[in-house]
Amino acid sequence: MDLAAQFGSHDAEWLGAMAEVARSGRYVGGNEVKAFETEFAAYCGSKQGVAVANGSDALRLSLLALGIGTGDEVVTVSHTFVSTVDAIVHAGASPVFVDIDPSTFTMDPVRLAEAMGPRVKAVIAVHLYGQSADMAPLLEVCQEAGIPFIEDAAQAHGAEYQGRRCGSVGKIACFSFYPAKNLGALGDGGIVTTDDPDLAESVRSLRQYGTTTDRYRHERVGWNSRLDALQAAVLRRKLRFLDEWNNARRSLAGCYGRGLGAVEGIVVPMEAPGRRHVFHLYCIRTPLRESIRTSLDSAGIETGIHYPIPVHRQPAYARVRFRAGRLPETERAANEVLSLPMYPELGEQSVEYVCEAVRSTFAR
Ligand SMILES: *Cc1c(COP(=O)(O)O)cnc(C)c1O
Repeated sequence: MDLAAQFGSHDAEWLGAMAEVARSGRYVGGNEVKAFETEFAAYCGSKQGVAVANGSDALRLSLLALGIGTGDEVVTVSHTFVSTVDAIVHAGASPVFVDIDPSTFTMDPVRLAEAMGPRVKAVIAVHLYGQSADMAPLLEVCQEAGIPFIEDAAQAHGAEYQGRRCGSVGKIACFSFYPAKNLGALGDGGIVTTDDPDLAESVRSLRQYGTTTDRYRHERVGWNSRLDALQAAVLRRKLRFLDEWNNARRSLAGCYGRGLGAVEGIVVPMEAPGRRHVFHLYCIRTPLRESIRTSLDSAGIETGIHYPIPVHRQPAYARVRFRAGRLPETERAANEVLSLPMYPELGEQSVEYVCEAVRSTFAR
């Protein structure tokens, strides 16, 4: 991933915005942060946006604002970035892992229904690799149980489900602006989106030491999890290009699909009906992962594995109480997924070069 390429394409404008913040004397909070919150929430089709320090905090603050805590269970997937599950543990609750749908790598609604129980107080679905989870049946299970549905949209800025953007469907949604995400800051950042003004207010209070309107009156125990004005200024300007960048990712994915779709031993990512995939990652699956990786490496092509160890098998989770049934698709995905280069500035020629290198592994 070449992150500097993106900055280079617009550096004069973005450096100008940063200089304005530097001269303004308002470095925490202020207009840039407020404007970004409004603009990003509107982009998602959501009423409220509360900017925070990173995506992990967005998840943890959401759970706390929803009143999730000790003795509660939260259902999620084990095939995700560990942060999704860490948030549950940090809130004092226990994770319940359910398996994924192998065609989309997102939570299997049938498995969710099976995992429900009296202590389950929320569900976090992850829109992994840039594709929305199948939210309608997941929401139905949550509505039946009367519990909130949380979107981990950290990999899905601009992705859509049945015509709605991710971040506007669940009770609350969490985004990260880590530099490598589809919308990335020049450092860390995150946001929570919701239509519920009270919930937004709780997150706003918790991200600022538990204060409300009265600066030194603390209604609850919070911490400091704010987004810097500098980051907000850059993110506002980058947001205007998000659709263009996502379109570029989609067209590169099309190019990969044409180059690799017919190769036996490789399954290219599919876009499920009614969903708009934004290809945060271009993740193929193959039982020949190691040999492909090795041959790409010798051709100077970097690859990644997202993620090699499911959360329930992480050493950190050996000491965590969680509930899990069998997770065969999660285990299989961890053994077979391989992420090929993907970022908006990559270019079709590079994709063709990668495809050729993959095909030549098979020729050998
Ligand atoms: C990146 C990511 C997070 C965490 O975001 P940070 O900003 O790095 O804290 C959480 N969940 C998923 C699925 C992610 O990809």
